[in-house]
Amino acid sequence: MNFDWTEEEKQLAQKVKDLFSGEAGKKIQDMEDADVEKLKGMTQGFLKSLAGTGYLKEALGPGSRKELLKIMAAQEELSSVSSSLFTAVETSTRLFGGLLAGWGSGKTPGEILDQLRSGRTLGAVALSEPGSDAPSEGMNTKAKAQGDDYVLSGEKSYVTNGPFADFIAVGAAVDGKNVFFVVKPDQDGVETGPRLKTMGYNGLAVCALTLKDVKVPADCVLGPFDDDGAIKYLSAMQDFILTMASLGVTGRMLDASNKHSRAYFRGKKPIYAHQEVRFKISDMFVLYQTSQLVARRAGWFWATEDPEADVLISCAKVFSAEAAEQVAGPAMQIMAGRGYVSPNPVEQGYRDSKYAALAGTSSEISRMNIADAILKRYAI
Ligand SMILES: Cc1cc2nc3c(=O)[nH]c(=O)nc-3n(C[C@H](O)[C@H](O)[C@H](O)COP(=O)(O)OP(=O)(O)OC[C@H]3O[C@@H](n4cnc5c(N)ncnc54)[C@H](O)[C@@H]3O)c2cc1C
Repeated sequence: MNFDWTEEEKQLAQKVKDLFSGEAGKKIQDMEDADVEKLKGMTQGFLKSLAGTGYLKEALGPGSRKELLKIMAAQEELSSVSSSLFTAVETSTRLFGGLLAGWGSGKTPGEILDQLRSGRTLGAVALSEPGSDAPSEGMNTKAKAQGDDYVLSGEKSYVTNGPFADFIAVGAAVDGKNVFFVVKPDQDGVETGPRLKTMGYNGLAVCALTLKDVKVPADCVLGPFDDDGAIKYLSAMQDFILTMASLGVTGRMLDASNKHSRAYFRGKKPIYAHQEVRFKISDMFVLYQTSQLVARRAGWFWATEDPEADVLISCAKVFSAEAAEQVAGPAMQIMAGRGYVSPNPVEQGYRDSKYAALAGTSSEISRMNIADAILKRYAI
């Protein structure tokens, strides 16, 4: 495993960093308070600027796993600026785009992929359902073949990018097999609910989705699949995205509380000089460094198609999600009153830090999956 980024990888990371170093860097914070219309414009604008760096071109789908190494340093840069924007962009590119690149065929998926790579379109993936079991247990959203087309009905509970996505890949079951249907929000029978108010990640637009007898043409259908390869791909990529997003959340809290501890004086010295504060910052730094290390290791395993890649991603996701939660408390304690009064990076991080442990594969389910992998490796 080699943690040295190549010149090309460093250049991409630098381009992404430069995009947000000036006014855009300050503007990005406005996403957290923006209404849905403003957020739509900002997300589309940032997507186009990111396309100019080449960030959206690589690592789309299972056929280009090794390209993840090319973009990982840039992913860290983007997530360090905004975990909301990072999650919106990655959901569209690596999840929705990855699904089309891996399992789509024909004219329509190809055209959408071109638009995604050039930042002209935003995608979403709808799997979670109200009251249903995990997608691997079978979905309640169903479709029936009607000539060459399909008719799709069901409900999805949370769709990231849903309120203004141009395309949504909807997971459904057809005769017990998984299928993805690419629908447009303005299509007959597709109803996106109002934007959901969330505790954190307020720069992300999420809504529910209802599908009533939606007619989907054959070239917008991915599947039916005899295996669960597409679901497994989405699950691993989503957990990797949440890992990297958590790294951004942790990093911003560490940065803000560390700076505060040096600039804020009590007892005639900066609070950093007090041992209790220094220990907190040391512990936070250890958690951040370890999260970064395990995230990069998981990315490396994924890119090199190591058989342990999936379990490494689960480990990285559990660790980095919980590290963000563990950092939130002491970061707020150091900032004290200034942290508790909104807005500031620690108050935002405190709210954001809860998300990753419950989203994607939750920490509990991840731990069960890790245990299964260990059992297989060390069979009794
Ligand atoms: C803001 C937001 C955006 C989202 N965006 C999307 C999206 O774009 N697309 C999408 O498809 N979904 C999306 N989701 C759904 C998200 O991935 C789910 O919230 C997540 O999978 C958890 O599902 P749930 O809330 O139904 O909880 P559940 O899965 O019902 O879990 C409830 C609790 O039970 C525990 N539990 C469940 N099963 C087990 C088990 N087998 N063993 C041990 N413990 C278990 C869980 O760990 C958790 O603590 C989003 C969710 C949110 C909140």
